[in-house]
Amino acid sequence: MDKIAPFLSKVFGLLAFILFILGNILLFSPLPSTPLSCYHAAPLLWWGVMVVTGVGWFLLAQLLLVVVLVGLGSAVVVAILAKIGIEANTSLQARSSTVSRLSPLTLAELHALQYVCYIPSTSREHFPVENLPHPAIYLDDQKNTCGICQDTFVPPQYGKEQLAQWLIELKCGHVYHAKCIDEWLIKGSATCPFCQRSVRDVVDPSSAGGSQGSTLVNERRDSAFSTW
Ligand SMILES: [Zn+2]
Ligand SMILES: [Zn+2]
Repeated sequence: MDKIAPFLSKVFGLLAFILFILGNILLFSPLPSTPLSCYHAAPLLWWGVMVVTGVGWFLLAQLLLVVVLVGLGSAVVVAILAKIGIEANTSLQARSSTVSRLSPLTLAELHALQYVCYIPSTSREHFPVENLPHPAIYLDDQKNTCGICQDTFVPPQYGKEQLAQWLIELKCGHVYHAKCIDEWLIKGSATCPFCQRSVRDVVDPSSAGGSQGSTLVNERRDSAFSTW
């Protein structure tokens, strides 16, 4: 019985569908308004078929309604999901860009930072800035220490061997020993240790010197001073 029931259900379904089609043909072909129609031959039978076929129409209309509603509903759900998905992607991108903005600098990015030569602002006349290896930065006594190691910056030495301390000025204006800020930016995060401002948005990696940059960085780490 368990096997026969689904089979019978299908057969009756098919039969009902055929009868429904046949009923429609009998009802409307030819149209009831023409003299040779079924309606004129047997009006009661025609109305009987009409009632049964009407039930079929009702069921069909229900089916169509369900299809339309499901279609509309799923379209709305898909649209909502797409919107949520896009928003999720956007926030993900924002997050990842924040992360990449704060992640440690590469050596090439590090080399693109601004080197400066410290000149005491109180005695700038003693330090001619011509031919300095890097742009001069004038700092008073309150600002001439490295925020990382707390050591005071050393002004350029003019002698037989001309020496200038390797210093880096970040875009925020804070100055550090290159050796000190190197460690922070490469092993820590791409921010100023003092004011937390990102240094990456002011770095242009395309202007970095590639392998030459790495060499310079290594050289800088070996000595606290540069010669020129
Ligand atoms: Zn330092
Ligand atoms: Zn800063």
